[in-house]
Amino acid sequence: MKAVLLGVGQAGGKLTTALAQFDADAGYGAVLDALAVNTAAADLDPLPLETVLVGQSRVNGHGVGGDNELGAEVMDEDVVEVLDALAPKVTAAAEAVFVVAGLGGGTGSGGAPVLVRELNRVYDVPVYAVGILPGRDEGTMYQVNAGRSLKTLVREADATILLDNDAWRSAGESVEGGYEAINASMAKRIGLLLAAGEAVEGVGESVVDTSEVINTLRAGGMAAVGFASAPAAEDPQENVTTVTSAVRSAVMTGLSLPSATDADAALVAVAGDPDRISRKGAEKARKWLQEETGSMQVRGGDFPLDSDRIAALVLLAGVERSQRVEAFLERARQAVRDEREETPDPAAAFENDELDDLL
Ligand code: GDP
Repeated sequence: MKAVLLGVGQAGGKLTTALAQFDADAGYGAVLDALAVNTAAADLDPLPLETVLVGQSRVNGHGVGGDNELGAEVMDEDVVEVLDALAPKVTAAAEAVFVVAGLGGGTGSGGAPVLVRELNRVYDVPVYAVGILPGRDEGTMYQVNAGRSLKTLVREADATILLDNDAWRSAGESVEGGYEAINASMAKRIGLLLAAGEAVEGVGESVVDTSEVINTLRAGGMAAVGFASAPAAEDPQENVTTVTSAVRSAVMTGLSLPSATDADAALVAVAGDPDRISRKGAEKARKWLQEETGSMQVRGGDFPLDSDRIAALVLLAGVERSQRVEAFLERARQAVRDEREETPDPAAAFENDELDDLL
């Protein structure tokens, strides 16, 4: 899928950079171009991307300090500047625009829904959001911000792909300490999803096509991406279990939103040397995915790659009924209640109604 990326806020800019880098290093050519937007000049400076600093008249380049309402307001005021900078990048080749942001902060959390809404008005191609959820140990403000941002994004975007910081938290390691590794791992999932539709030369008959990725995401709402790989034998007949276990691991342990396995639609791409991919394994894996997700709509195909490993990339769409999402939303609601108790002013409590829309 030829995509243009728009990173909003600190996490959005960093993940967009990692994603563009992943695509360039692998030579997939799925990322057409990328732009980073922020209210904080210091967060834009280190990025090797074209950037737009918004809200200068309001916050003078110092950021919105975790205030996502201010983030939304500022983006609304300066949205034309962002659209103007993005316009030359969204060429006729573009098949989608991805707005990437951390949902727990201020600029990305408030700004991403505004940008998604505006982009959807301007462009005919789908506009997807890629949202990073705060880990459960992050503070109340992050949970509240993410809850409201997510609710609004799901309404405005064609689909919202969720990346949960907790999915990458290994025991004893703080989320902050591991951002670089987390971003690389997140970038790999999204990067492969974009690349999966970019058919390669010498392809077999069952290659995943961009339209299948788009059709899977048509289920709308929230989506998750899983990945896992394993060494493969040269003889495809020996790789039945390699394929089925890779798909299983991608869903059970490699998903960007853990346990979000109840889905409306799914896509499974088996990546590797087409001569090594077991057809029987791919077919079995697809049936398993159908049962596991409860979805009748499971698309599948190969993603030909020059590798001695076999990898599985799984896209699950319409995962909002899953326990993980419910647990996150409950965390966000509880955080709203906690915040309200801290501010017993009835007027403020009225303003802070549980998980209001942001726009
Ligand atoms: P903003 O600049 O105001 O949009 O705020 P941030 O982008 O810093 O958003 C804060 C949220 O993003 C928190 O939940 C952080 O855990 C998360 N975050 C910040 N930087 C990164 C990063 O580089 N990678 C990941 N995965 N999450 C990040």
